[in-house]
Amino acid sequence: MKKYFVIGNPINHSLSPKLQNYWLKKNDIDAVYDKIKLEDNEVKNFIEEIKIKKVSGCNVTIPFKKIVIPFLDNLSPEAVKTQSVNTIILDNGKLIGHNTDIAGFEKAIKKIDFEIKEKQVLILGAGGVVSSIIFALEKMHVSQINISNRTKAKAENLKTQFNNVNVVEWGFLPEFDVIINATSIGLSNEEINLDFSRVGKNKLFYDVIYNPAETNFLKKGKETGNISENGKLMFIYQAFEAFKLWHGIEPEINIDTFKLLDND
Ligand code: NDP
Repeated sequence: MKKYFVIGNPINHSLSPKLQNYWLKKNDIDAVYDKIKLEDNEVKNFIEEIKIKKVSGCNVTIPFKKIVIPFLDNLSPEAVKTQSVNTIILDNGKLIGHNTDIAGFEKAIKKIDFEIKEKQVLILGAGGVVSSIIFALEKMHVSQINISNRTKAKAENLKTQFNNVNVVEWGFLPEFDVIINATSIGLSNEEINLDFSRVGKNKLFYDVIYNPAETNFLKKGKETGNISENGKLMFIYQAFEAFKLWHGIEPEINIDTFKLLDND
């Protein structure tokens, strides 16, 4: 039986096994998907297991999306540009790193009734997921990307990868059409210390967090007359793209897929 994993640290929170095992079963694929917590010094050996076919592939989550890169033979162009790998496959004996967070974000945004082209975007956060979000936003031809992060140096650092992004001070709210919470603020019901009372209406408040389903950030968006959307569909689509890479099948996304990830 083929074995797939998601590697990370911490990993307990990951809902990837639930979703991937559901799709494996639905598609009669003789394989199993599990989560495994690794220490930094165990990552190389784990990836070797894919090369020798003891493991058939893996997803990669925080904090290993960049750390895995030196152990791979090739990267997709998206993974090169973002320096972020969340899916590893073995192709003709070569370990290839892919980034399906980009497609996950792009597909999720396209499902929302909001035209993002030519819009001004403000991203809160400059952690691991942000390079993928910027890549997708550039692909969708937004007009401007501002980044605001508590640790300014990390936001500045993204300018070496993406020339056109602009860094603004943490706590300052420039004009925007779309605001994306890409920080982990809200995972435990915390609030972002920003005054949204004068942002206006008909903007898009997008939170990459999906558990809880409605963070305080999304509540604020709604209360101020804006569209608000969580990161659940992004999560589902990044998993969908990984499934497709490993099994060559597009798994079905329906109401049951959503329910599967509820109340966890
Ligand atoms: P990182 O740990 O790499 O980055 C965390 C970010 O949150 C940093 O910008 C950090 O700022 C900021 N932050 C954390 N705590 C605070 C605070 N108290 N005040 C201000 N800023 C804070 O995480 P990732 O980029 O990998 O993930 C970010 C979020 O996105 C997570 O909640 C994760 O669950 C979610 N995610 C969702 C996905 C989906 O498919 N829906 C996919 C990937 C991630 P600083 O640099 O100053 O520390």
